Parts: sequence; C-alpha cells; structure tokens
Amino acid sequence: MDEAYEYQRGIDAIWPDTEHLLPETVTKELATLTEENDRTGRLADRSIEALREAGYFGLPVPSDFQGGGATLVECCAVQRRIGAADPALSIGANMHLFSLGFMVEHWIRHRDESWVLLEETASKSRIVGSAFAEPGLGGSLTRSNCTARRIGDKWVTSGVKVPCSLAERSDVLCLQMVDEAGGPESLLVALVPTDLPGITVERTWNTLGMRASESDTVRMTDAEISDDMIIHRSAPGSVGDEVFAAGVGWFCTTATACYLGVVSAAIDQARKALANSKISHIGATRAALPSFQSTLGEIYTEVLPLETACAGLAQQLEERKTDPRSLVPTALALRHQSVEKAIRAVEMASELVGVASYSAKGAASRLVRDVHAVRFHPPTRFVTRQLLGRWALGLPWSFELTEQPMEDVLR
Ligand SMILES: Cc1cc2nc3c(=O)[nH]c(=O)nc-3n(C[C@H](O)[C@H](O)[C@H](O)COP(=O)(O)OP(=O)(O)OC[C@H]3O[C@@H](n4cnc5c(N)ncnc54)[C@H](O)[C@@H]3O)c2cc1C
Repeated sequence: MDEAYEYQRGIDAIWPDTEHLLPETVTKELATLTEENDRTGRLADRSIEALREAGYFGLPVPSDFQGGGATLVECCAVQRRIGAADPALSIGANMHLFSLGFMVEHWIRHRDESWVLLEETASKSRIVGSAFAEPGLGGSLTRSNCTARRIGDKWVTSGVKVPCSLAERSDVLCLQMVDEAGGPESLLVALVPTDLPGITVERTWNTLGMRASESDTVRMTDAEISDDMIIHRSAPGSVGDEVFAAGVGWFCTTATACYLGVVSAAIDQARKALANSKISHIGATRAALPSFQSTLGEIYTEVLPLETACAGLAQQLEERKTDPRSLVPTALALRHQSVEKAIRAVEMASELVGVASYSAKGAASRLVRDVHAVRFHPPTRFVTRQLLGRWALGLPWSFELTEQPMEDVLR
C-alpha cells in the first residue's frame, strides 16, 4: 500500500475532512507562493486572494450570517492545512480567525446586534486584525497601556500595538484599551476600521521565521472611536469572563493547529529525504534502515497525542456542554505542550533531512526558523507553568505572573 496514503489516513482519523471549506487546489497554490513570501518578508497578494475566493475570511461565521459555518474543530483542521502550506500565512490569518471566533462566542452568549458585524465581515470578506500585544505588557492578555478618554459618544485613544499580523491588509482591528476613568469593566475591546483618522501602520516586522506574517506596528494617535465600536467590556487583570475563556480556547487550539501544520510539513520533508537518499555502500535508502525508521517513529509518538489533544479540546469547546472557564487549564496545557512538541518534532525531522535543513534556502530550513515562533504567543510558558501550578493547589490564578522583584521582597 502507498506509504503516503497510510500516513494520511492516520491523520484523517483525527481531523475532519475540510475539503468543502478549503479545497486542496487552494492549499497547493498557497504552497507554491511560500518560498517567495519568506524571501521577501511580505505575502504575495495572491496568497490572500486565494483564501478570499475560498470564503476563508468568513469561515467560523454562522451560515445564517453568510459565513462558512465551520465548527472550531474544522477551523483547526483548516489552519493545520494552511500551516503545512505556508506557516507565516497560517499564523497571520489565524489572528483574524481567532478574532472572529471571539466575536462568534460573544454573539452565541448575548444574541445582540453583533451579528451585523459578523455578517458584514463574512459577506464582504473583510480581514480583522488582532491588535492585543503592546510594548511593556509582558504578554498580559487582560491589560492595555492604551488609555481611552470618553468625550460624548466617542472614545479618544492613543497607543501602540505590536506585533499585529496582517495589519496593513486588515479592514478592521480588534483591539483592547482601558477607560482612564476606571471602574469595574474598564477594559474595552473595540472593533475599529483601519482607515480611521489617527491610525497608522508601520512596516516593522523583520524576523528570523514567520517572516511573511506581516506582523507590523499599529500606532494610534488621538484616534476617535465611537461607542458603538465597543464590542466587549471586562475588568483589567481579571481571569476573564466566559467569552474571554472561550476566546482563549479558540486561540490555544487554532494556534496549536497552525504549528501542527508546520510539523506535518517538516515530517513530509523528512520522509522525502529518507526515501530519496540512497547510501551507496549499503545499497539502500535511509528509509530502509531501522535507526532512521525509529527516529521518525519517535517523532510520531510525540506529535500524534498533541494532534488528538488539540482536536479533542476543540471538539469539546465546540459542543459547549462545559463552561469554557473550566477548560482554560486544559487549553493552556495544550498551548504549553505545543511549544515543546512542535519545536522538538521539527528539530528531529530536520536531523533526519540532514544538512539541507541547515541550508540558507529551502523548505526544511524555513520550517526550522518558522517553528521557533511558537514560543512567543501568549500565554507563554512562564505564565502557563505558574498558572497551572496555582490552579492545582487551589490558589487564585490569573494570566499574569504572580511575583515581584527580589529587591521588593527583601525591603
Ligand atoms: C508570528 C507572530 C505573530 C503575532 N501576531 C500577533 C498579533 O497579530 N496580535 C497580537 O496581539 N499578538 C501577536 N503576537 C504575539 C506577541 O508577539 C506577543 O504577545 C508579544 O510580543 C509579547 O511580547 P514579548 O514577547 O516581547 O514579551 P515581553 O513583554 O518582553 O515579555 C517576555 C516574556 O515574559 C513574559 N512575561 C513578562 N512579564 C509578565 C507578566 N507580568 N505576566 C505574564 N507574563 C509575563 C511574557 O509572556 C513573555 O513570554 C504574535 C507573535 C508571533 C510570534
């Protein structure tokens, strides 16, 4: 039986078929653009257009609102496939997908006018950038240094958001800011058009990997945001409400799926290298040799449980039988393990490929560079370790580190 078929069948047993949501012709076309995207550090317009034509930008929006009606587990499966074709595109587009996921979770619980935003995004194939990260935030998910002052029915806000993937291509930004007047729900989440006066994008992203994710800098200078652009309110530094917890679930599962795509592409590189590298004095390819087979097998022992855990958690979140707040520790543990497993798997696969994976050009070495970005998405391992330990001890926990400088302790 064809080796590739057997391999695919194993993965197919974990993930749903998503051909109807994103045809293979599209992922194949995306893959042809990846090397050039990586070289230039920008996406070809065609990479975005191909996704747009396939209806990708409305993927999780309910079909009643002209979206793709994809479930969370289907969205993960799509991200995994894009991640295998073009990692930088998958991680950039995932920030859009996650923002939509957050909006869908809000709508499901509140059934308010936010469906209009969902319909507009899906029907007009708009891109929503996710502008949460800021300098000096330490990766905190529930704070912002962008202060907003209420003047009449407007909020005037200034600040910097970086990195913000696909910032230049986004029609709308999903961003956090803090009501300077304070109050119990002073952390505001707004959906803001990128052409609003006072909002500018600077091309600052120039990195080792995920080069074409276009994760640039958004600067807000006295930008006037109308009150109807505020889609959610909560308390700064809180563990978040149910919608926030569901959003954490979306991010942890879909981001993990993107990196599982990177891993699957690296494994493919290894399989091809083993099949094609004939060792002349043995008269066999490396694929026929037990030590190489075992190393490939070891990669699977690490990766397949992560694939299953990611799909299983996405399914459980999607079923909505469990309060998403009680699934936050599981989501964070998955995210933590995705860092360890994805990097290890790609590094082992690159060893199987050989020195080609150390070349300045080529898919194998690009995947090595790309996978290291998995460390930097929040919540990072600094946070997940401490949070899970405190949770296990029954202590209060949050998405921020609970500690202080030693000088303060000794004072
Ligand atoms: C390819 C890519 C694309 C991205 N795109 C986006 C995007 O579109 N939108 C977006 O919002 N973000 C995005 N991010 C995430 C963003 O990069 C990080 O959230 C942000 O950069 C964190 O800043 P830092 O790594 O400089 O962390 P620093 O602020 O320097 O902190 C360093 C580390 O310490 C931890 N830390 C420090 N202090 C604390 C504390 N008090 N509490 C908790 N943790 C603490 C941080 O988690 C981090 O791991 C992207 C990341 C990557 C890799």
